[in-house]
Amino acid sequence: MGTLVMKFGGASVGAAPALTQVLGIVLQEHERWDNLLLVVSALDGVTDALLEAAHLAQLSNRRGYRRIVATLRLRHLSLVEQLPLGVTERNALQADIDRLLFDMLDTCQSLADNPANPRIHAVIDRIIGVGERLAARIVAALLRQNNLRGVAIDATDLIVTDTAFGNATPQMALTRQRIAQHLVPMLTRDIIPVITGFIGATETGQPTTLGRGGSDYTASIIAVAVEADEVWMWTGVDGIMTTDPNEVSDAQVIPLLSYDEVAELAYFGARILHPRMIGPLREHRIPLWVKNVFRPREAGTLIRETEPSSAQGVKAVTIINGLGLTAAYSGPLTAISALIDEALFETTSSRTEVMISAQSSYHSFVCFVIPTSAGPEAVQATQAALEAALARHKMAAEWKVSPVSIITVIGQHLNSHTHVAAEVLKVLKDVRVLGLSQGPTSCGLSLVLAPEEAERALRQIHTMIVSKRPGSAQAPTA
Ligand code: ASP
Ligand code: MG
Repeated sequence: MGTLVMKFGGASVGAAPALTQVLGIVLQEHERWDNLLLVVSALDGVTDALLEAAHLAQLSNRRGYRRIVATLRLRHLSLVEQLPLGVTERNALQADIDRLLFDMLDTCQSLADNPANPRIHAVIDRIIGVGERLAARIVAALLRQNNLRGVAIDATDLIVTDTAFGNATPQMALTRQRIAQHLVPMLTRDIIPVITGFIGATETGQPTTLGRGGSDYTASIIAVAVEADEVWMWTGVDGIMTTDPNEVSDAQVIPLLSYDEVAELAYFGARILHPRMIGPLREHRIPLWVKNVFRPREAGTLIRETEPSSAQGVKAVTIINGLGLTAAYSGPLTAISALIDEALFETTSSRTEVMISAQSSYHSFVCFVIPTSAGPEAVQATQAALEAALARHKMAAEWKVSPVSIITVIGQHLNSHTHVAAEVLKVLKDVRVLGLSQGPTSCGLSLVLAPEEAERALRQIHTMIVSKRPGSAQAPTA
């Protein structure tokens, strides 16, 4: 039955019990599909540790990065110890782990010797991609031990990207060519490729990464190139939820979402999917499932093109960090936009895509979102970069920068459900709204709030959403 791409996230490859689940899922789906391809992330926490190692190498802190590499080695070797592997598979795997980590240690060493290396971002990508290489080898060995033809494949041989190290974009024509040449022939031999997520390489073979959380994007690139029928993302949660379950305890799984809704969700802060993975799937109409590796029988969330009739107003609410800029001055916003763009690019290598702005006769307010892929420390770094840029351009006296929270209400056709905005504002009657904007896909309504008010607002809006869901006591019965 066609071709399935399954992506396993860090939580599903991070420990032996989870890997047993992975094996069970692969054994079952291998029976059902003609072609199966796997994409794997690094073990959970490993990419963070690798980034830290790269950072310490840059500071020439040799003891620091060596300690990290030693810890990573122990973690991977002890995971291999716990897996039911034969002696040959185990020995080969242990040798592979050592070889990859020694190579990576050499790269750290060369960075420590020459921290002013102008190609620093390329060196960092070489270091931080090793987590996926390790994970792919472990999963492939586990498959082979169970009579499946698992082969670990480094996506550096498949995904050709531009040279935007740290946040590279694939060149699809070349990538398709490589995949047709190297990957597709394996499928006809019943091989299950276990492909490293997150990494690619430039045309000349220099390793790159696709941005944090990029393994999701890898899965969608591979799916498009092999014309997959479906993509399944295996995570540690039951699916895409009405809000972040870490923030609000009664968050619920959403059974069905459109591509537009989920793209908005991912962009505005639901960390569950990489925002850039949705576009290619939407274009090729490949359905996407998000499922829980620990509860594989639960339905999860399906993302596909939905008919307008299945649009049922508000489905989710997200929260994300951003920065707001206020000026006691009203006039053109072009200069400030350029500065914001510059500062954001400097700290996160992302361009500003969304800006919420408001003007009155005396004041201007501009707000932008820090991409979720940029990591939690990005707000502070961007604020500092922006303040420095304002000072450089002698604009610091006019513009004040402060952290804000952006709460986004997600649902299809919000523009034709004007009562939604009214209801949301009613729920927030005692909260000060600094800005309000509806996205161009009309799937998202964003509110800018002071961070100290945001958590309460999120909970209040979520309560409203849950009360309207089908099956809830207060849901409309029509
Ligand atoms: N391991 C990478 C990260 O932590 C990529 C991924 O998990 O998708 O960002
Ligand atoms: Mg992820």
